[in-house]
Amino acid sequence: MRTPPPVTFRNWARNQTGTPAEVRTPACVEDVVRAVRDAAAAGRRIRMIGTGHSFTGVALTDGIMLRPGALTGVRSWADDRVTVMAGTPLRALNELLAGRGLALANMGDITEQTVAGAIQTGTHGTGRDSGGLADQVAELEMVLADGSVATAGPGEDLFDAARVGLGALGVLTAVTFRVEPAFLLHNRRRTLGHGEVLGSLDELTGANEHLDFFWLPHTETCLLKTNNRTAGPARPPAAARHWLDTVFLENTLFGAVCALGGRLPGLIPRINGISAVALGESESVDASYKVFTSRRDVRFLEMEYAVPRDRLAQALRETRDLIERMDWKITFPVEVRVTPPSDAWLSTAYGRPTGYVACHVYRPTPNPAYFEGVEEIMTRLDGRPHWGKLHTRDAGYLAKVYPRFEDFLTLRDRLDPDRLFTNDHLDRVLGR
Ligand SMILES: Cc1cc2nc3c(=O)[nH]c(=O)nc-3n(C[C@H](O)[C@H](O)[C@H](O)COP(=O)(O)OP(=O)(O)OC[C@H]3O[C@@H](n4cnc5c(N)ncnc54)[C@H](O)[C@@H]3O)c2cc1C
Repeated sequence: MRTPPPVTFRNWARNQTGTPAEVRTPACVEDVVRAVRDAAAAGRRIRMIGTGHSFTGVALTDGIMLRPGALTGVRSWADDRVTVMAGTPLRALNELLAGRGLALANMGDITEQTVAGAIQTGTHGTGRDSGGLADQVAELEMVLADGSVATAGPGEDLFDAARVGLGALGVLTAVTFRVEPAFLLHNRRRTLGHGEVLGSLDELTGANEHLDFFWLPHTETCLLKTNNRTAGPARPPAAARHWLDTVFLENTLFGAVCALGGRLPGLIPRINGISAVALGESESVDASYKVFTSRRDVRFLEMEYAVPRDRLAQALRETRDLIERMDWKITFPVEVRVTPPSDAWLSTAYGRPTGYVACHVYRPTPNPAYFEGVEEIMTRLDGRPHWGKLHTRDAGYLAKVYPRFEDFLTLRDRLDPDRLFTNDHLDRVLGR
């Protein structure tokens, strides 16, 4: 039999690559059990990947890589719950739910990720009352290092540890989400000055169910997006307008502007100034999942930190001062979101109301000094880095900002003493 050629894994941002020793595409729980047992018997490591939307090496493996493509679809429905196979893309989940008049309470920016990949790194959107995806999970099913299949629900340590588990405790095979009747969101976009936004942060976050804003570096302008539930009627954006905003302006033109800025960085402050003036106001009412999520075609690198909510204004002020002091030319807006506290041990929002600050750079023109400078501010403010986005922290730092970090490690020692599920990235952020 001929040995198949090696498969190279490359993530969405194309900044992480790896060549696993073997690739499998499990189609059922038994396939996952077999793969885990085979890995243990062969002395190999094993990880399941999602769709590679993490910017870090969190998904890489030199052992057996499990692909999600055949572990998809609904396993069962209940009144306010749905159980889906772990590799189901969020996009498919939204459509399945919409088909039954149901929806998730909150979502992140995009829907390309798998449900397991998204929750394992703590993927979140923005919400006054509703948290990230892991906070909407009601039960997990996973294959542990000894090949056994475990289910975990509220009140169990495994549940609180494994919802945001970095794939370090086992391979998730199914995820049960709490769902609710489908609802409409009133989306409003407008601009406000940076000072005005910081001066009324509490009021803005208190008055809106979902507040998300983008500060355009080198300008005074923030684009504010607020989403609030409404009884309707639906007023979706006209198809031509929607294409203009979400495809042309936010992707095609934005991509061209980034490429121009990459060649002629001196133009970036002027380009951002023009964009700030061009940003118009708009309103629409549409199905929640369509309002929460966007299309992202322009490839970027991202770092995002979660800071205690009462330090968010300081974090933003210092980030702005830093960018103004340095000679960096930053095209991408700085994105700001909030969530309530989470009870998942490694959620970036664990135990505290949280503000998120996300910095992006155009993929072809990385700017490590920008990320380093912002990271210094965020870590001084007890920030926790997003598990799927770029950062330089190690287990020593993370133990200080996560009160249940040691408990997570103790559980990991018990469930995976031989580190079947580890990789180089986890060795850094969790320790060996
Ligand atoms: C364009 C873009 C937009 C984004 N928007 C947001 C956003 O709005 N909010 C936010 O918080 N993040 C956001 N992210 C980050 C992204 O949501 C996370 O990095 C997420 O983990 C990616 O999911 P994935 O399916 O691609 O998983 P991968 O990146 O492939 O894997 C992530 C982790 O999950 C593990 N994993 C996957 N499947 C399993 C399984 N079955 N069992 C155990 N472990 C598993 C992997 O081993 C790995 O550790 C964005 C990223 C990009 C590129």
